[in-house]
Amino acid sequence: MISLDRKVIESALQGARNVYPNEFIALFRGAEKPIAKKNEEKNVEITELIIPPFSDYSAHSSGFNPWHLPLSIDIIGSFHSHPSGRGEPSQQDLNFFSTNGVFHVIAFPPFTSDSFRAYNSKGKPIPFKVR
Ligand SMILES: [Zn+2]
Repeated sequence: MISLDRKVIESALQGARNVYPNEFIALFRGAEKPIAKKNEEKNVEITELIIPPFSDYSAHSSGFNPWHLPLSIDIIGSFHSHPSGRGEPSQQDLNFFSTNGVFHVIAFPPFTSDSFRAYNSKGKPIPFKVR
């Protein structure tokens, strides 16, 4: 199971509200716990939100230069907002998800605790808990 720290998701949603109507992007950092038993679900804890410096936000896309990130950072996944529309990943999102970790959130207006969806690296909806 993936557990998402409440403060992390709240600050991400706040970021999305702050840059609205532009798109907001941030990365999740955390730890993958080793699996104790065979067939056990992977346990991932997301504990930190990284807002890449020098990100550019626009109404239709957002991006960042990976060179601005510290080296050896453990990126577990990503967060970005869709200022218009819903929480479904675009083709560009799917490409990004496939190379940037295991847990990806897309938030949509009004960016409250109900207005986001989570996906795995293949863009399939993924269960998680907020705590
Ligand atoms: Zn997107």
